[in-house]
Amino acid sequence: MSENGTVQHERVVIIGSGPAGWTAAIYAARAEMDPFVVEGGISRTMIPGGQLMFTTEVENYPGFREGVDGQALMIEMKEQALGFGTRVLTEDVVEIDPNQHPFRLVTSEGTEILADTVILATGANANWLGLPNEERLAQSGGGVSACAVCDGALPHFREQVLAVIGGGDTAMEDALYLTKFAKEVVVVVRRDELRASRIMAERAQESEKITFAWNTVVTDVYGDDVITGLQLEDTTTGEKRDLDVGGLFVAIGHSPNTGFLQGVVDLKDNGYVRTPVSWRTETSVPGIFAAGDVMDDYYRQAVTAAGTGCMAALEAERWLAHGGAGAHAEETIAAAD
Ligand code: NAP
Repeated sequence: MSENGTVQHERVVIIGSGPAGWTAAIYAARAEMDPFVVEGGISRTMIPGGQLMFTTEVENYPGFREGVDGQALMIEMKEQALGFGTRVLTEDVVEIDPNQHPFRLVTSEGTEILADTVILATGANANWLGLPNEERLAQSGGGVSACAVCDGALPHFREQVLAVIGGGDTAMEDALYLTKFAKEVVVVVRRDELRASRIMAERAQESEKITFAWNTVVTDVYGDDVITGLQLEDTTTGEKRDLDVGGLFVAIGHSPNTGFLQGVVDLKDNGYVRTPVSWRTETSVPGIFAAGDVMDDYYRQAVTAAGTGCMAALEAERWLAHGGAGAHAEETIAAAD
């Protein structure tokens, strides 16, 4: 509520501040929609800017042939959005009322905002094992990562023994990808079978560079500045052993940041926001759009997040131009048929 008692009313509120959020803001600002970004508060596990704030070097974002520091990339994106007049609030949205239009949003600090359109871009977080040394070395760039495609090709992983934790498709894909650079890849699986699809499992099992440690969990990560090894425990015998590794890739799934969206928009069984029409970002609620990892359980790349952020801003602009309230949703569905 503002000082004169009226509630702040925005044309587009963007929730989240990763590549999807800032790209949406850049497009919305250039379309003179005067976007308002609620970038998220600062907590122990998350800071504004999202997952890239924890990445040291990004080598696959187009336009940076020498690679770019993840934090630097996010600062550039934010500055670009601010340069076009984007306004920012460093709070978390904790509530959205989808049953009234304009939508009513409430933040963690009790700020109320009315929004004609909303772009959800709160991302997802990689799941971690929760070991103190794992967290420390992941944050310091010490050879622990939750994204093989992002980090696997970095020089310090070359010709090393690398460990991948997990038995799903991501773990298989990561292990296969890492064979391009590693001397050997050890996949650590907590059960005696894989969750991965048969084709991915077979591909990994056929690779001469990949071995599997079955019924095994990681109980500690060794290394001061850089990872040097793992403590493993056999879940059937309780026996412990050490494994020397030069890198650890944790691939035990992701969790989308959709806790505040329960009952607001349709979510998929795995918790990600459902966008019912293919190649569109509109959610089950007309006027609320979703972009980036919060709706993408498949690609999860910075560049795809930025791409869907662009799409969401263009859709929000067109939705407003069509008078909102479902007009564009129908057109979208007709166009997709
Ligand atoms: P996922 O299918 O949920 O698999 C997670 C894996 O991590 C499981 O093997 C699980 O073990 C293990 N795990 C979970 N918590 C653990 C812990 N604390 N310690 C040790 N292991 C733990 O996740 P995902 O592999 O990221 O895949 C997500 C979705 O994306 C899936 O639908 C997948 O098919 C899809 N995807 C597809 C492709 C592709 O087709 N190319 C590539 C990547 C992902 P349990 O099995 O014992 O639960």
